[in-house]
Amino acid sequence: MSKGKLFVISGPSGSGKSTLLAEVLEKLENNFFSVSATTRPPRPGETDGVSYYFKSPAEFKKMIENGEFLEYAEYAGNYYGTPAAPIIKQLENGKDIFLDIEVQGALQVRSKMPEAVLIFAVPPSFSVLEKRLRNRSTESERIIMMRLEAARIEYKKASEYDYVVITDKPGDAANEIISIVKAEKCRFAERKYLLDEAFDRA
Ligand code: 5GP
Repeated sequence: MSKGKLFVISGPSGSGKSTLLAEVLEKLENNFFSVSATTRPPRPGETDGVSYYFKSPAEFKKMIENGEFLEYAEYAGNYYGTPAAPIIKQLENGKDIFLDIEVQGALQVRSKMPEAVLIFAVPPSFSVLEKRLRNRSTESERIIMMRLEAARIEYKKASEYDYVVITDKPGDAANEIISIVKAEKCRFAERKYLLDEAFDRA
C-alpha cells in the first residue's frame, strides 16, 4: 500500500477555501481533513472538534510546550496550530491529508515535510476578497482590516507554493484541486511500489 500524501491549502481569509475544500473532500476518496486547534472564539454554527478544537491561550501554550503541533502560527490576533499525531497516523494508513492553514504555517510544513504539496487559493481580485469578508459579517471592522492586511502579506508568499487556484467559480476551483491531487499521485515516487510489485511478479 502506498503512503498517503499531504496537501496544504492556503489563501486569504474570505477566499472561499473552506467551501472549496468541503467540495473537494466530498469528491475524493480516502482522505482526512486535519482539524486545527485555535484560540479564536467559535463563530455561530462552529462545533468544537469539527470546525476546530477551541482552546484557551493557556491550553494552546501547553500544547506548544508538549510539542504537539506539526506547525502553529499567530494570525490576526489568534493562535492556530495543526496537531501532529493524527497526521502521522493517517499518512501511515494511506490517507491523503488536507490542511487548511495560513502561509506561515504552510511554510513550516514545507520545511518539515518537503514532499508536501502546497496549493494557494485566491479570489479573482482584492475587491472580491474584501466584499466576501464583509458579507460574511462575522467579524468586527478591526478584525476585517487585520485580515485584509494579512491577505496582502500572504499574496507576496504565493510564489513559494506549487500551485495556484482561483476561487472564482467554486466548482471549477474544486475540479482543479482534484486534478492536482490525481496528478501528484501519478508521480514516479508515488507509483514506484506498483512497478516494484509488477516486476517482482514477472
Ligand atoms: P479562520 O479564523 O477564518 O477560521 O482562519 C483564519 C486563518 O487561519 C485561515 O487562513 C486558516 O486557513 C488559518 N488556519 C486555520 N487552522 C490553522 C492551523 O492549524 N495553522 C495555521 N498556521 N493556520 C490555520
